[in-house]
Amino acid sequence: MDNSLLEGGTVLRITRWGEPVMHQPTAPITEFDDDLRQLIRDMFATMYAADGVGLAATQVGVSKAVFIYDCPDENDVRQRGVFCNPTVTLPEGRDRNLEGAEEGCLSLPGGFQSLHRPDRATCTGQDETGAEIEVVGTGLLARCLQHETDHLNGMVFGDRLAGRGRKLLYRQHESLAHRYPDDWPVTPKTTSAVPQPEAEPKA
Ligand code: ZN
Repeated sequence: MDNSLLEGGTVLRITRWGEPVMHQPTAPITEFDDDLRQLIRDMFATMYAADGVGLAATQVGVSKAVFIYDCPDENDVRQRGVFCNPTVTLPEGRDRNLEGAEEGCLSLPGGFQSLHRPDRATCTGQDETGAEIEVVGTGLLARCLQHETDHLNGMVFGDRLAGRGRKLLYRQHESLAHRYPDDWPVTPKTTSAVPQPEAEPKA
């Protein structure tokens, strides 16, 4: 991808589960223009401000089929990119290995639950110029490509959890929600539940 997209973005508020844009399928990207490039810049700025490894456009309130990622694969090599109009293909039969791992979402901050997903995912789609691309993800990247493509289809990972896991996930999120201002990460999260005393003024 074009590294200039990593600069010049504005940090935007991250939408939360329950907001309609998170639960509806997105419109395909048809114009690979400056508006798309600015959206991608804003998404990178927002993802890094929130310490995420992936971010879908719906998570900044835009119902369009684009996501970004900066995520390690099974060899701990960081992979970075943009996917427009992605489709994920998962292994079938003997090639299909499910891996259980803690999964979280920037749109439900503080909540993590174990979810089984295939440990390998092939994502096809287009880059920010409209060129066809394909990425084979392993390890955390396999999970990330599936999680972000789900977002663009109007699905959140809680939809894939059984009732009990989902209940625990919401409980965990609620216990930490006070650390995340409504406009997070525009306003950073508080690092401690206990208010810090003001520093002594220095003369
Ligand atoms: Zn998410």
